[in-house]
Amino acid sequence: MGLLEGELAEALHELERRSLRRALRVVESAQDTTVVVEGRRLLMLSSNNYLGLATHPAVKEAARRALAEYGSGTGASRLVAGNLMPLTRLEQHLAAFKGVEAALVFGSGYLANIGVLGALAGPGDAVLSDELNHASLIDGCRLSRARVAVYRHRDMAHLRELLKDAGAARRRFIVTDAVFSMDGDAAPLAEIVELARAYRAAIILDEAHGVGVLGPGGRGLAAACGLAQEVDVHIGTLSKALGAYGAYVAGSSILRDYLVNRARSFIYSTGLPPAVAAAAEAALAVLEAEPALVERLHDNARYLRAGLEGLGFRIGPTESPILPVIVGEAEAALRLSRALLARGVYVTAIRPPTVPAGTARLRVTPIATHTRDQLDVAIAAFAEAAREVALI
Ligand SMILES: *Cc1c(COP(=O)(O)O)cnc(C)c1O
Repeated sequence: MGLLEGELAEALHELERRSLRRALRVVESAQDTTVVVEGRRLLMLSSNNYLGLATHPAVKEAARRALAEYGSGTGASRLVAGNLMPLTRLEQHLAAFKGVEAALVFGSGYLANIGVLGALAGPGDAVLSDELNHASLIDGCRLSRARVAVYRHRDMAHLRELLKDAGAARRRFIVTDAVFSMDGDAAPLAEIVELARAYRAAIILDEAHGVGVLGPGGRGLAAACGLAQEVDVHIGTLSKALGAYGAYVAGSSILRDYLVNRARSFIYSTGLPPAVAAAAEAALAVLEAEPALVERLHDNARYLRAGLEGLGFRIGPTESPILPVIVGEAEAALRLSRALLARGVYVTAIRPPTVPAGTARLRVTPIATHTRDQLDVAIAAFAEAAREVALI
């Protein structure tokens, strides 16, 4: 073993010892209400495919048609040669859906977040960031080289204090997840909008788990609060409720033009494949045609939550279909996850550093297309698994 490998092996061993080592599991089927792993069909309760659109017939058909017409890749950065028609169509559709002037599609949510923060904020600016924001927003803050002030989770008094301190900054940005990805609670948007007005700050809102999940027709948290027009920069992924891949930034035409010129993760990265863009657009059309899917998602979440709470599980203060079953220690979360797997239920243990130490959890997410029977099977499996690991 070389010097580097020796050190890496030691670090991995240390992660293993602390129940923090991660490994990839191969999924041998489509991403649906169930998946096949090692030849066994498992009930899926860990995906962000909230509406089941990853396998919707209209979505797959749109991808097939775009593949036949446009081939597999865009060939270049969109500014160089890769601005294929399905991307433009998707952007126009997204802008109409969000009720804003324009949208710009990025390769992924991670790329959108580092691109937006890097383009808009810089030295001399202040970025005010919720402590539980997604890692891609945190990395975007770091890359921007702006002064970053982290406020306690959803703590508006703390945010106000930090805004006061940032009075001398050239620009102020408040950046937050709309729905916090590992807890399912929502940003207090009305208060954030008030503070942004009072302290002349711009709002960047990441609706990764809001779009397709919250608000009228799944238009997101800002729409749910009637505050869509107050948000300067709307970000959302195409990879979660919309079942495809990629992300968008939505807002004014000027914002879009600026990002085309300044967002490095847009400029220096190849355009989204046309079949993926077409799939995302078809998913958007399904969402518009069948808003009842969103209701079914929430019905399933309520049902599952009641079942798990009935068993004595502690579920964090979620305002979305993300049900965080807080376990505490990483090792206990891992044991519960394994006991569920043995009973045919796929729920991944979420451990530090994804969540704070001592709050390891199973992040349980139902899908709109899960049947009640499937959810009953899941609840029964949780009851048995919890007994096995002596958790409740
Ligand atoms: C998943 C997620 C992202 C990253 O999106 P990808 O398209 O998976 O790269 C960004 N922000 C939040 C809040 C997320 O949950």
